[in-house]
Amino acid sequence: MAEIQLKSLAHSYSDSPTGPDDYAIRQLDHVWHKGGAYALLGPSGCGKSTMLNIISGLIQPSEGEVLFDGKRVNELSPRDRNIAQVFQFPVIYDSMTVYENLAFPLKNNKVPADRIKTRVQEIAEVLEIEDKLHKKAKNLTADEKQKVSMGRGLVREDVSAILFDEPLTVIDPQLKWKLRRKLKQIHEQFDITMVYVTHDQLEASTFADKIAVMYGGQVVQFGTPTELFEAPNHTFVGYFIGSPGMNLVEVERCAGGVCFDSTVVPLEPWQADLLERMTSTNVKIGIRPEFIEVSAISSDDTYESEVLDVEDLGTYKIVTVRLANQEMKVRQNEEFEADLGSQIHLSFPKQWLMLYVDEFLIQEQQR
Ligand code: ADP
Ligand code: MG
Repeated sequence: MAEIQLKSLAHSYSDSPTGPDDYAIRQLDHVWHKGGAYALLGPSGCGKSTMLNIISGLIQPSEGEVLFDGKRVNELSPRDRNIAQVFQFPVIYDSMTVYENLAFPLKNNKVPADRIKTRVQEIAEVLEIEDKLHKKAKNLTADEKQKVSMGRGLVREDVSAILFDEPLTVIDPQLKWKLRRKLKQIHEQFDITMVYVTHDQLEASTFADKIAVMYGGQVVQFGTPTELFEAPNHTFVGYFIGSPGMNLVEVERCAGGVCFDSTVVPLEPWQADLLERMTSTNVKIGIRPEFIEVSAISSDDTYESEVLDVEDLGTYKIVTVRLANQEMKVRQNEEFEADLGSQIHLSFPKQWLMLYVDEFLIQEQQR
């Protein structure tokens, strides 16, 4: 088990990159601490697989260092890095039995025969494939093959970390849920550093204690599911986490705060202070649909808006409103009723109103 540190990492698949767009990983600094259960979450193409392959040594980064427990490993082969990696599609030997497939990584590492036997049995039980041990791998179903592939990653006891690259893509939804819980259980039992790549926020938050959100080749936030929800560090995190995502509105500086159309939104003094010292014109406010308050009567702190749609989702409702030139989503409980076209009054509680400059959150500590 090891702490994995990525230092000033950058990677381009092009031999002569000309600009940031040519980089799959852009200036990335990140630490995966020892023994953690982590998710790496982000949309397709943001660089997740590239990052894992750099950690395991399948790819040499164009720039920067990979450190295991503080020691540079850039020059080490994948084998010497001692990382287990499980891919999206099964990597197994079709001509071998399930038992032989699971025993293979251990035999390679010269583990004593009796230990191999108990360990293979143990992992087969966890994955519920103990009755398949003597079957040839080529006769397995797609699900079973992927379980064996995962087993080959989990079977070694000496690994620095296990990296899972969207391992449950080919697994049917019900089994998916079960296997994810299994992985979590295995993590608790063996206390191994695990990094689980997914583009599914639910999958990430059920598996991981902490999630790294990746966007455009950068880790834009590393936090608990609650931190990602309550204080998205980047507009992408606001948009990507939550259903629907955060309301984000482009605004301009104006007297008393920020404005869009003719609507003025006051800021906290510290927010206004920080904004004044910045020159960028890329300014946005963000508020989650869950945190907008609705009242039937107007006051100094409310914004009049028109109800465009009310979507009933069983235990809650998502209300779409128009406020000045903006559409916003508001989450209300199931009792909420309003006619389409009617006016409701919104307020934005101060602690939930986020300010973004150049897409990054402006935080009080920056003062
Ligand atoms: P993810 O796993 O998040 O979907 P990848 O790490 O696979 O993303 O890809 C990141 C970017 O690098 C994408 O723009 C992708 O097209 C590009 N890329 C990935 N692999 C290669 C490759 N072997 N050669 C050239 N470009 C690649
Ligand atoms: Mg990928």
